Amino acid sequence: MRSPNPYRRGSLVVLSGPSGTGKTTLYRRVLERNPQVHFSVSWTTRAARPGEREGIDYHFVTGEAFQRAAAAGEFLEHAEVHGNWYGTPWQGLRETLSGGEDVLLDIDVQGARLVRERLRGTAFESLAVFVFCAAPSYAALSRRLHGRGTDAAATVETRLRNALRELSAWREYEWVVVNDDLDAAVADLERVILAARCRTDHWTREPWEP
Ligand code: ADP
Ligand code: 5GP
Repeated sequence: MRSPNPYRRGSLVVLSGPSGTGKTTLYRRVLERNPQVHFSVSWTTRAARPGEREGIDYHFVTGEAFQRAAAAGEFLEHAEVHGNWYGTPWQGLRETLSGGEDVLLDIDVQGARLVRERLRGTAFESLAVFVFCAAPSYAALSRRLHGRGTDAAATVETRLRNALRELSAWREYEWVVVNDDLDAAVADLERVILAARCRTDHWTREPWEP
């Protein structure tokens, strides 16, 4: 992908979809290949999974710390998902977008709705790009969630139940990426990000004017 451009603002890429569709796998690949796309590290009250790193995958915090930050207005959005709290910090977001670089959020369907509401009427509204990630089938989603091996059986069942509700929200999104073949899904997400950069409402100045 091309380097950032000083004449336009970045995109706020909101990636949602049921747990197990492969959002983490997908965005990690996109971030590796595109240094000008930044990941928004959420706060969460859930325990870290093996291999997850503080400050890289999430900020792992206590319920008290989370509620304090929420009360202080430090989140663009926050929501309870599968029994834990998750929130997107405002910090750094405006600066990155204004600097012409993209920010990717991996958040649930409720969170995406809150982002849409929160940005309505603000200078950042037109920068949001909503992408729904789906697995090729419900059976594949179930296989992936069981196969990931990071969650207890009861947690997997909760996530599969919640997936039914989340899947019905796909029409609220502008773009859908079906994560069947991973390379193809990575290419699709990259194309969406590239296309958003060409939207006129992302541009702030007119370098082409004489
Ligand atoms: P999410 O972040 O949406 O919960 P993950 O990225 O953790 O999902 O992926 C869930 C599981 O599915 C992981 O074990 C991952 O390795 C696997 N996975 C991801 N993408 C694919 C794919 N395209 N084909 C097969 N398995 C995949
Ligand atoms: P996981 O626990 O598997 O990492 O994530 C569970 C769900 O929480 C996923 O749907 C993920 O998109 C969502 N999530 C992660 N961070 C946030 C956040 O900051 N806000 C919201 N609303 N959801 C989040």
